[in-house]
Amino acid sequence: MTKLTASRRQFLGLAAGGAAAASFAAPREAAAQVATNANIVIIGAGAGGTALANRLVRRLEGARITLLDPRVDHLYQPGLSLVAAGLKPADYVVSKTTDWLPRGVTLIAEAAATIDPEARVVETSGGQRLDYDFLVVAPGLVLDHDAIEGFSLDMVGQNGIGALYAGPQYAAATWQAAQAFTEDGGIGLFTRPATEMKCAGAPLKHAFLIEDITRTAGNRGKAEFHYAAPQGALFGVPIVAEKVRMLFGDRGIETSMQHTLTAIDAGAKRATFATPDGTAEMDYDYIHIIPPQRAPEVIRQSGLSWADKWTDQGWVECDMASLRHLRYDTVWALGDVAGVPKGKTAASVKWQVPVVEDGIIAAIEERDPTETYGGYTSCPMITRVGRAMLIEFDYNNDLVPSFPGVIAPLEELWISWLMKEVALKPTYNAMLRGRA
Ligand SMILES: Cc1cc2nc3c(=O)[nH]c(=O)nc-3n(C[C@H](O)[C@H](O)[C@H](O)COP(=O)(O)OP(=O)(O)OC[C@H]3O[C@@H](n4cnc5c(N)ncnc54)[C@H](O)[C@@H]3O)c2cc1C
Repeated sequence: MTKLTASRRQFLGLAAGGAAAASFAAPREAAAQVATNANIVIIGAGAGGTALANRLVRRLEGARITLLDPRVDHLYQPGLSLVAAGLKPADYVVSKTTDWLPRGVTLIAEAAATIDPEARVVETSGGQRLDYDFLVVAPGLVLDHDAIEGFSLDMVGQNGIGALYAGPQYAAATWQAAQAFTEDGGIGLFTRPATEMKCAGAPLKHAFLIEDITRTAGNRGKAEFHYAAPQGALFGVPIVAEKVRMLFGDRGIETSMQHTLTAIDAGAKRATFATPDGTAEMDYDYIHIIPPQRAPEVIRQSGLSWADKWTDQGWVECDMASLRHLRYDTVWALGDVAGVPKGKTAASVKWQVPVVEDGIIAAIEERDPTETYGGYTSCPMITRVGRAMLIEFDYNNDLVPSFPGVIAPLEELWISWLMKEVALKPTYNAMLRGRA
């Protein structure tokens, strides 16, 4: 068992059935504290920012660490898929941002409004000017619902419209609309955006779950399932795409690839797609909408984004192994906002945080960093209530299973379901505390 694999197991929380994953996060060997008066600003107190703050506080003595985040609630986003299938209540995903923050960190409950990486200054929405020695940008991403013409969030839950990404109350409303479809039948239309997105397995999971629930309810004969996506394949990792294609075939879920949702007519229950052959329309009784996803505006205005890649999305230009900005060496990107080819999952954040921690400490100590991120991304791909495939991969699209020979990544297993349904949340919480 390699050290890497062992600690992945700790993150995935399966060491003894997964029920109390947090306790399996073996105490790390206490690294020596580094004395410094460095001034560190972290933008975003979500999965990445919170985990990093907890780790830096333990490693640094005398540093000034300031976190910026206006959001009172912390959202455990992997739980949204379960809420939108009626398997968990909305409050399953909600806690308080302050519950996870260590002593020794200053939280300013305001947004970063501007970033000047030349002057090394962040200005907050309340007008405070914060200078920094090191800046970590971890503000996640924004959902561009306005990009879907005819759609607005107040429609979610009515007239067969779901949008589970938008937050806990929308995930719960999504279940209301989806549940009606599982009972009444009709045409179910499941979509995903053309942009990069967090947890690219989630659109597939929603289609699989709603199909399974419809079948269990005895209503499968009344329902048609269509999955429409802009890409040419069902998943970014070819071997996984092929497996999903076969499962969709078995389950009677039809696919329309190279279809980008551009508009809905909620009254007529009709969706419009851009395709290489022009516009296409599809009728639906239930539609699941996941909008385009982009870096927050403050990032896109800051000069930190790639100039020649993802220009419509604005992800931060950084080295894919060190996550350090390529033009501003006092800046690191962490989490969903990072402009790297994989990694928009909480499981990726777990592997990115020690890299950014090491990068900052190495800079303080004026040495070369030693930690690198290899693109680890994990998606417990739920295929039915009680079954999932534990898909883990890296930058090279290689599968990197944490339990080789024990949990086959491309098999639908109950144990993999348990990892998502039971183990992932305590493990995520341990990560937030900087202990997984
Ligand atoms: C439906 C769904 C299912 C998912 N399933 C899984 C899964 O099964 N497994 C998995 O590993 N991952 C999953 N994920 C992905 C995972 O939740 C994200 O990848 C992870 O939360 C990213 O962490 P982050 O710190 O980059 O962003 P976030 O956790 O989103 O945090 C960003 C924080 O930045 C704050 N912020 C935003 N703008 C500003 C600003 N201007 N100034 C200050 N603060 C700001 C926000 O308020 C927020 O608190 C899922 C996500 C979704 C939506």
